[in-house]
Amino acid sequence: MDDFKILRDMMVDYQLIPRGIKDERVLAAMRKVPRHLFVPDFIRHSAYDDMALPIGDDQTISQPYMVAVMTELLELRGDEKVLEIGTGSGYQTALLAELAREVYTVERISTLADGARRRLTDLGYENVYVIVSDGTKGLEDKAPFDRIIVTAAAPKIPEPLINQLKDGGIIVAPVGERFSQILIKGKKEKGMLIEEYHTPCVFVPLVGEHGWKG
Ligand code: SAH
Repeated sequence: MDDFKILRDMMVDYQLIPRGIKDERVLAAMRKVPRHLFVPDFIRHSAYDDMALPIGDDQTISQPYMVAVMTELLELRGDEKVLEIGTGSGYQTALLAELAREVYTVERISTLADGARRRLTDLGYENVYVIVSDGTKGLEDKAPFDRIIVTAAAPKIPEPLINQLKDGGIIVAPVGERFSQILIKGKKEKGMLIEEYHTPCVFVPLVGEHGWKG
């Protein structure tokens, strides 16, 4: 077994399971996806630490536990069409690709999108589409989606994303102030979003027409 696999198992056994992550498919995917290939070389040794890490362009890859919580809240069973806003490194995208049928991921910074696309291709994911755009507007021509995950924070859930979610679908997004938010899980029922409030969190800002204005 290689050293990174050992670190990955330790991440799951010491950071995720004791804090209550239960979904076996999520745990298996996090034991599998090589997180160290999604962080810059100079911090590769920290890839499995219990923290967010810088990925360039002032952006971050989320802490493993936060990734696990968000992924578990999506309740993926394997046949969903998923929209992700905020590709970043592509790490969360890889997990979604493991757990769902098809993933559309939108990133506003093209250098990050290019890096993520290359990593996901190198790892052999064929059910992922990386798109450079303002994700606060969603992805109208591919809608509707079974699940939507937003990995950057906005003052509220962008309206276009709610419109592009299927009835019965789930959206997970951090919502709140610029430097502190709460993770929201919304389920769309009869056109209305029923919201549950989960863990406090800190995400980089979602910048765009229906997010922060820069
Ligand atoms: N999920 C990522 C972490 C993303 S950090 C990972 O696993 O690495 C949040 C990302 O959201 C950043 O890359 C940022 O550039 C992007 N972002 C911010 N506003 C956006 C917008 N309006 N549309 C698309 N992406 C956006």
